[in-house]
Amino acid sequence: MIVPWVLVALALVALNCAEETNHYDVIVVGMGAAGTMAASTLARAGKKVLALEAMERVGGRVHSVDFAGGVAELGAEWTQGQGPSLIYKTARDHNITLQSQAKDLSEVEVVRSDGTLADLVIKDIVDKGMELCDEGSEGNKPVSLGEYVTNELTEYIRKKHPEIAEDKETVARVLEYLDQYTDTVDASDSWMDVDATVPYEILDGDQHLSWHKLGYKTLFELLLNTYNGGPGLDSLEVKLSSPVTSVKWPQQPDEKVVVTTSGGQEYTADAAIITVSLGVLKEKHTTLFS
Ligand SMILES: Cc1cc2nc3c(=O)[nH]c(=O)nc-3n(C[C@H](O)[C@H](O)[C@H](O)COP(=O)(O)OP(=O)(O)OC[C@H]3O[C@@H](n4cnc5c(N)ncnc54)[C@H](O)[C@@H]3O)c2cc1C
Repeated sequence: MIVPWVLVALALVALNCAEETNHYDVIVVGMGAAGTMAASTLARAGKKVLALEAMERVGGRVHSVDFAGGVAELGAEWTQGQGPSLIYKTARDHNITLQSQAKDLSEVEVVRSDGTLADLVIKDIVDKGMELCDEGSEGNKPVSLGEYVTNELTEYIRKKHPEIAEDKETVARVLEYLDQYTDTVDASDSWMDVDATVPYEILDGDQHLSWHKLGYKTLFELLLNTYNGGPGLDSLEVKLSSPVTSVKWPQQPDEKVVVTTSGGQEYTADAAIITVSLGVLKEKHTTLFS
């Protein structure tokens, strides 16, 4: 009778080990910039971290690909600001010099969609519109950026360039351009969806710093300690092609977070950090969390 009990005991030990292997201090979901910074910071602080990424690569909306002997950025291109910027600091700490690609907006020309150069009056109106978009409203009244800039710019044109105020087609084109400009900055579908009070702070320094030939992907290699063939981080395990399908939050203080991937693998942790984009959250929040 001893042998079966030994087997049961061994099986329990094996089960415990398996549970232990699949248990982490923290699980990070998504390995874009936010997830990679979180996973790297925690692993460097000695935490046992599991990072689960849906795609077959890290980076998310940063995606540098080899192109014509250099690098093409399919996602983010510039590091904005030097002030208290963790990205700028990470590059500098590794003796990587980011190259300025700053543009003097006063030298940028405005071109109509038929290819002809717009005159200086139109350029002044476009410059004013971009300034309004960048600075936003300081008022307390909730209003969309689209509504705010349309009103302010219409007033500006009426006072400063009354001859253009009657040219409805040109004014509409300028406003359409500003709507698209806002959408590229805020990832919105329309500037009517964007709050006029700009909710972020612009860091000091150069706003157009490029990783140039190294590519923005280098930031991820530095954070994950894989730059120049580095060995990675001891206490960080990264699993690619592992879309998370379920995050079960604990109901009691002594319970763990249970995270499941599409392959059915289950992992537990004391905490989970979810860094999927707002778009993914909008689409999946009802099924992703329980
Ligand atoms: C074309 C373009 C140009 C840009 N240019 C600039 C620029 O010049 N400068 C700048 O500062 N910013 C720029 N941005 C914005 C910048 O790229 C993003 O703000 C930033 O990369 C977002 O990082 P994130 O970690 O928040 O999200 P993401 O990069 O979206 O990362 C989220 C990650 O979660 C993963 N994920 C989603 N669902 C799951 C799931 N169920 N399970 C597991 N993983 C999941 C995704 O695959 C992704 O890797 C640009 C963006 C684009 C698209």
